[in-house]
Amino acid sequence: MSLTKKIKEFALDLGYSRVGITTADRFSDHVAILQDRGPMYDFLVQDPRRPVEGCEPQKLMPSAKSIISLVWDYSQKAFPEALLGKVGRVYQARSYNAPSHRINGSRYQLMLDFVKKAGCQVGQGIFLPERWVAARAGVTTYGRNNFAYADGIGSFIVLSSIVVDTELEYDTPTLETGCPEGCRACIKACPTQAIYEPQKLNPRRCIAFNAWFTQDGKPAGLSSHIPPEIREKMGTHVHGCDICQEVCPRNRERLQAKLPDDEFLVRVSQDFSLTKMLNMTDEFYETRVQPLMYNYIKEPKYFQRNAAIALGNLGDPAFIPDLELAMNDPEKLVREYAAWALGRIGGNLAKQVLETKRSLETCGNVKKEIEAALLAL
Ligand code: SF4
Ligand code: SF4
Repeated sequence: MSLTKKIKEFALDLGYSRVGITTADRFSDHVAILQDRGPMYDFLVQDPRRPVEGCEPQKLMPSAKSIISLVWDYSQKAFPEALLGKVGRVYQARSYNAPSHRINGSRYQLMLDFVKKAGCQVGQGIFLPERWVAARAGVTTYGRNNFAYADGIGSFIVLSSIVVDTELEYDTPTLETGCPEGCRACIKACPTQAIYEPQKLNPRRCIAFNAWFTQDGKPAGLSSHIPPEIREKMGTHVHGCDICQEVCPRNRERLQAKLPDDEFLVRVSQDFSLTKMLNMTDEFYETRVQPLMYNYIKEPKYFQRNAAIALGNLGDPAFIPDLELAMNDPEKLVREYAAWALGRIGGNLAKQVLETKRSLETCGNVKKEIEAALLAL
C-alpha cells in the first residue's frame, strides 16, 4: 500500500471524516486577499503565529513537499438547547485547537506520530490558511458565509493539517463555491451585516470576533471595548455565533438529524446559566467555562463582560439583582458592562441601582458607562 493510502486510512481510522493531500506550494490567493482587505485583517497579519509567512510553507520549511488536510466532523452528537445561541457548537464540541491532553488534541497528536514514524519530517510552527489547504486538497468547497463545507457533512467541521517533506499523491482541488445559485440566506441572516458580500467578511462586525478578540493587549490596537451597536446585536452569544451556518441549506440535513446526546454537554447544560457566568465562581469557571471555551479568552472578566451584554439584551428586569451584584465586581470591565446592561433593561429599579452606583464608583470609565446608561433611560 502506498504511503498516501496508509496515511489516509490511518486518519479515517482515527475518526477523521475526510483526508486529502495537496502540494506545499504558496497560497498566493490568500496572500492577495490579506493584502487587499488591509485594515480589516491587520490583527491577523500581525498575529505572532505569522499567518502571512504560513502561506508560503516552503519559506519556513525548504524541504516541504506536501500538506495533509484533515476534516473533523464535530456535529456527530447533539448540542443541548440550553447552550445553543450562547456557546458556538465548535466550542461545545471541544474540538477547535484542542490541546494534546484533550481527546480532540490527542487525535491530532496520534496523526503526527504516525506520519513521523512513517519517515516524514513534519513542519513546525507553520500557521496555514486551513480553508485554502482543505479546498486545494479536495476535501471542502467554500460557502458564501466564508465557511468550508465538506460534502455530506456541512460546515460544522474543524480543519487541521500537517506539512511534510515527502512527495505524496495529490488530490484534485475543489477551490469552488458549492452553494446553490442565488442563495444569500447567510448574508441576510447575519445580525451585524458582517458578511458584506459573498465570501467577504468584516471581522470587526462579526459577533464571534467581538466576543473573543476584544481583549486588551491583542495586536492591531484591539482592546476590550465592544461598540454599543454591536453589543445590542450580540443577543445571548457569549462565545461564538452560528447564525450564518444555522440558516444554511447546506447544513439543513445535519441540523435536522436526530443525533445521540453528548453526556458531558448534558451535564454542563444542566447548571449553565448567564447569571452564573456573570458573577462567576472559580469552580464555575474551571468546570463549566474552561472545558468548552479554553481557546481564545484567557481571563474570566471577558466572559463576565459577555454575560452582562447577553443579560442586557434579554431585557428581563429579573436580572437586575445579578447585574447589581456585578456592579461590585473588582474588575472595572465587568462593572462597565453591567452598567450598560442595566441601562439596556431600563425601568425604575435599574435607574435606582445605576444612581446608587454612580455615587460610589471611583473608575472614570465605569462612571462614563453609568452616565450613558442613565441618559438612555
Ligand atoms: S458568525 Fe454571526 S456575526 Fe459573524 S458573520 Fe456569521 S452570522 Fe454574522
Ligand atoms: S446560506 Fe446559502 S449562500 Fe450562505 S453559505 Fe449557505 S448555501 Fe451558501
